[in-house]
Amino acid sequence: MKNQRRVFIQKAGVIAASTAFLPNVLLSATRPQQEKLGVALLGLGYYSTSLLAPALQLTRNCELKGIVTGSPEKIPEWQKKYGLEDKNIYNYQNFDGIANNPAIDVVYIVLPPSMHAEYTARAAKSGKHVWCEKPMAPSVTHCEAMIKSCKDNKVKLAIGYRCQHDPNIQAYMKVAKDQRFGKVRMVTSAAGYFDARTDHWKQKKNLGGGVMGDMGVYTLQGARLATGEEPVSVLAQASTTRPDIYREVEETMMFQLEFPSGARAACHTSFGIGMNYLQVNYEKGWLKMEPHSSYSGNKGSMSDGTVINFPIENQQAKQMDDDANAIMNNTALIAPGEEGLRDIRVVEAIYKSAAQNCAMKL
Ligand code: NAD
Repeated sequence: MKNQRRVFIQKAGVIAASTAFLPNVLLSATRPQQEKLGVALLGLGYYSTSLLAPALQLTRNCELKGIVTGSPEKIPEWQKKYGLEDKNIYNYQNFDGIANNPAIDVVYIVLPPSMHAEYTARAAKSGKHVWCEKPMAPSVTHCEAMIKSCKDNKVKLAIGYRCQHDPNIQAYMKVAKDQRFGKVRMVTSAAGYFDARTDHWKQKKNLGGGVMGDMGVYTLQGARLATGEEPVSVLAQASTTRPDIYREVEETMMFQLEFPSGARAACHTSFGIGMNYLQVNYEKGWLKMEPHSSYSGNKGSMSDGTVINFPIENQQAKQMDDDANAIMNNTALIAPGEEGLRDIRVVEAIYKSAAQNCAMKL
């Protein structure tokens, strides 16, 4: 059954690959409706409950088929809401049994970052493709292990960088690629919100908390994607206005990046301040995005009068459909594990810089 299903998915991939130039709406007509990837959400907290599960109902290529949870009291409501069968419900202990479940093709890991590496390895070993939320993991070592376990088990690993699937973000990435306004001189980017919680994993070091991996990756991605380059040097400073709550991790991080071309970035991220923008100054113009990394409504403008404001029905649905397409067609992912690793490499250097109060070379 499992093999039959895989063969069918591969066939669907061949059809889709041969019609790669067709718009999505025509393409979906060539793929049998029932042949969607079965997705199991692992971790049923805020993001799974409020964003991913509803978004899965809007996807063309995916179906919410299963859940993995350590909270049995959540199961009846999820089963009722999404029609989930008993055989597709797992807990953290019996999760590895998912290897024998042909209904599940993908495990989407939506846990605190310190748990991403362990569950990626277990899902990959079970022969399931892995989608993993950002930040990929607390260290480069973890990220490399995650990439290796997926490679060894011949499954794909995608990081949940929803923004990279948004045509509004893709629009400013293209400006860098085309050198529309010449070289980038300066990027200014900020991402934050006021987090009123006082006892959450985002405030705990051993669970992978701290704003840098959380909202900070949006500012870092803004700088990396707007320049199309990888930073060669960082200088960072961590701070908090609520030391009673942010005892173990930073509430705020400010950091500067230097890129090989000479471009620089000034980035600001915080759990204490609401902010969400990107400004890019080029040799011959500028581009501004505000909001820059929201779930919806990202938009911007350029110095030549161009407006960036593409409609997108649902960012997470687009992300999951793109990633499902890459699996079905065996094509490249938009944000594979290597992309998550690129960010964590910089995040590690940012933490070192803040701790040692000096610039760090990459
Ligand atoms: P959350 O605290 O709401 O949920 C975390 C889930 O993990 C809960 O179901 C909890 O029960 C479970 N869990 C298991 N072991 C745990 C432990 N030891 N401590 C705490 N929780 C434990 O968190 P969330 O906001 O849903 O975030 C989950 C992941 O999703 C994180 O990686 C986060 O960065 C990511 N996220 C991404 C986006 C995005 O826009 N891409 C948005 C929100 C969250």
